[in-house]
Parts: sequence; structure tokens; C-alpha cells
Amino acid sequence: MKPAVLDTPPLAPSATTAKSVEKITYENNKLHKRLCRQVGQAIGDFNMIEDGDKVMVCLSGGKDSYGLLDILLTLRERAPISFDIIAVNLDQKQPNFPAHILPEYLTKLGVPFHIENQDTYSIVKRLIPEGKTTCSLCSRLRRGILYRVADELGATKIALGHHRDDIMETFFLNMFFGAKLKSMPAKLQSDDGRHVVIRPLAYVKEADMERYAQVKGFPIIPCDLCGSQENLQRKQIKKMLTEWDKNYPGRVDNIFSSLSTVVPSHLMDRDLFAFAGLKASGVADVNGDIAFDEEPCSAGSGTIGVIPLTAID
Ligand code: SF4
Repeated sequence: MKPAVLDTPPLAPSATTAKSVEKITYENNKLHKRLCRQVGQAIGDFNMIEDGDKVMVCLSGGKDSYGLLDILLTLRERAPISFDIIAVNLDQKQPNFPAHILPEYLTKLGVPFHIENQDTYSIVKRLIPEGKTTCSLCSRLRRGILYRVADELGATKIALGHHRDDIMETFFLNMFFGAKLKSMPAKLQSDDGRHVVIRPLAYVKEADMERYAQVKGFPIIPCDLCGSQENLQRKQIKKMLTEWDKNYPGRVDNIFSSLSTVVPSHLMDRDLFAFAGLKASGVADVNGDIAFDEEPCSAGSGTIGVIPLTAID
């Protein structure tokens, strides 16, 4: 097993004292361990990668996909199962895309890779009127191409670099603007029904990915080469979550945890719970619903426990 020590120098000014260098190295190693733990946990919880899989890691040149590839490579060395990794970049022919960066990086890393050249940029520019958002057509084209490439490469899983913040933002975007309780799944079947897409960074905070990218010195490719406007709704949600995290520590963590603890009988989706057929069973349930009483809330002070009705004269 490879020791969890980062092979890159810590971020530190040249005049930093030995003690602070030691501290930064310690923090960097802690970050690396945390990322490996969280990614390993997500892979295990959702059975994302199985023995014999060929995982196609989609590499955009952004911090998240670099980090994803890096952590998966570390975990593969430690894993009790055997799986292959192939990195894939789709060169969409955006103006000034530095096409040499990824092949050079991946060759140096010794990772098998494939660069798919497809000029989706021109298609998008031709079809979408000036000033309109191009992302939806662009990502639809990209998705189709990546699925085809996955087939051609014999990949059994497609790994994307979306993290916990993306999942949270998508959750609120869907709720606020789409009137749906829906997020970004950690594992899903592709819309063509032919592929399994995984998001191994599902438990990882964006801030950790940012710091990891700095520590590792990934050769980041700017993501605004297409000239598309930033999604203002997503920006607004991001700001809201950042403020909550600052002003109400623990709130965002709790919301994220709540995504894994869903109680369909206490929501209102009649497809998820058979409300119409619900009848009193006549059997008491100590964990059952307390209907008119307030739920005890362990988070606040002055918690009131539930007093069983039998205790009241
Ligand atoms: S930001 Fe640019 S490259 Fe990314 S999806 Fe939108 S149009 Fe495509």
C-alpha cells in the first residue's frame, strides 16, 4: 500500500519557517487522506466501481476532473479489486483551447487516455442566437459524444467530476426553479439506457477540490473559453449556500445529509407513497408518527422530548 504522502511541495513562500512548512505538509496530507476517504466511501456506498470495470474518467481540464483522476489513481493502487482507468477529454474546438496541455500531463502521468476532437463549438454558435445561453445544447452534444466514445473504448463506467456543492446547488435549483425535489445522482443510468455514470466526488466539498488543485499544481485550463454567460440562477444558489454556511454552521451539512434520509410517507408525492390506501392498522408503533405533536428537534436548545400518552393521567 502506498503511503498517503503528497509528492508535491507544499504551498509555502520561500521564507517560511521550517515549522510552518511542517504544518502545511501536515495539512496537505490530511486533505489528501480526507479526499481518499470520502471518495472511497462514496464508491462503496453506491457500489460505483466493481471488479473488472473499465472506468472512463471525463477530463475537462478543470480542477475537479483533475482531482477526480488523481484520487481514483491513488485508490486503485489500494483497492482490493482490479479495475482500469482511461482518461478522456473532448476537445470541443473552443477558441484558444490549449490542446497540448492534457496530452502532455497524461503522458507524464502514464495514464492511458483518449482525446476526442469534435467541433461542437461551431455547431452551438451556428444554432444558438447570439446572447442566448449555449450550455444546454452544448452539454447535450457533449453527452452524446461521450457515450459513443465510452462504447468505442469498451468503458463500463463513466466517471464525472461533480462534487457535493454541485449536488447541493442542483437540489436547490430544481426546487426553486423547477418545483421538483431532485438533485444530481451519485450513480445513474444514462438517458440512452446503455451506460452507468458515476460521481465519485459526491461527498467532497468544492473548497477541498480547490485546495487540492493548488497543492498538486494541476495545469488548469480556463472554463470560459466558449464565452458563455455564467448561469445566474446557479450563482444565486451558490451565494445563498455560502452565506448559510458562514452564518449558520452545520446547516448545509444537515441539508446534504437529509438527501440520504428521505421519508416518503412525510412528503406529498403520491407516486412514492400509497396515501390513498392508507388505513389504521390497529397496531401501535413506538417509532410511528406523532401526528399533531411537534417533532423533537435535537439541534436547538430547550429540546422537548415526546411524552407517551400513557404517561398522562
Ligand atoms: S460553459 Fe461553454 S463549454 Fe461549458 S457547457 Fe456551457 S457552452 Fe458548453
